Amino acid sequence: VEGAAEHAIPFSRVKDAERLRDRIDEILARGGPASAVVVGGGYSGVELACNLKDRFGDMADVSLVHRGDRCLEPAVDYNRDSGARRMASLGVRALMRTGVESVGQGTITLKGEDGELREEACDVCVWTAGVRASDQAEALGLETTDEGRVRVSPQLRVSGQQRVYCLGDMADCKDALSDRAGATAQVALAQADAVAWNIHADITGGVPVNFRYHALGEMLTLGSAAASLASPLFGFNAKGQLAH
Ligand SMILES: Cc1cc2nc3c(=O)[nH]c(=O)nc-3n(C[C@H](O)[C@H](O)[C@H](O)COP(=O)(O)OP(=O)(O)OC[C@H]3O[C@@H](n4cnc5c(N)ncnc54)[C@H](O)[C@@H]3O)c2cc1C
Repeated sequence: VEGAAEHAIPFSRVKDAERLRDRIDEILARGGPASAVVVGGGYSGVELACNLKDRFGDMADVSLVHRGDRCLEPAVDYNRDSGARRMASLGVRALMRTGVESVGQGTITLKGEDGELREEACDVCVWTAGVRASDQAEALGLETTDEGRVRVSPQLRVSGQQRVYCLGDMADCKDALSDRAGATAQVALAQADAVAWNIHADITGGVPVNFRYHALGEMLTLGSAAASLASPLFGFNAKGQLAH
């Protein structure tokens, strides 16, 4: 997207978080008013929008821009609902079916479902949408998806390789029941157990296992004093201050 690399702050590394913190501190120091836009309605986007609004209060308008029909699409229903309610109660402006056309110095241009372009003030734009894997896999000549993730078997072996494994965010993994594993730390840790077992099996002539993901649950922080957690496995949900 035009101008995003120069003017939007990404949100994946510690240095991104530090850059965002400095930008927030600048706005707080001058006492606002300001306009903040979070791009992407996934877990990071919703958590960030709630936290920004909590931090700024009336000093800044916070908007969340999302291409899809609803935020937190892959989330457990309970958490998706809690996230939407929390954004509404904090006063985060959630713009669904909206894309970003360009980001400029102090501005952002949005395109809604009516196709109209709207330029708005934007003092801080944080970009959480469109995660892409490292291009190292392509450079190594491995079979990858359009997002650059490495295709693996349910045993987490790299496609076409007998003794090479890939796990975590880099792996495009369908588990033993053909469920696609998400890019989360919880998935990566569970895959590590399966890969360790399979490497041991390769060395000792043992029986390899297919990876099967059992989601323990998911948690979202929705500002400094609220959260939402849901565990279908344990039949437990909580939200608000209790969950925090
Ligand atoms: C803002 C944010 C919030 C998140 N929140 C959650 C959450 O609440 N819960 C959750 O489950 N998941 C969360 N995730 C996702 C989670 O962080 C990842 O799914 C998880 O870290 C994936 O683990 P990984 O080992 O595959 O990759 P990483 O954790 O990215 O580790 C890869 C490591 O490899 C190193 N590396 C890269 N290239 C090379 C190389 N050529 N040689 C050697 N080393 C190299 C990198 O420096 C890095 O240390 C979040 C992610 C982000 C960005």
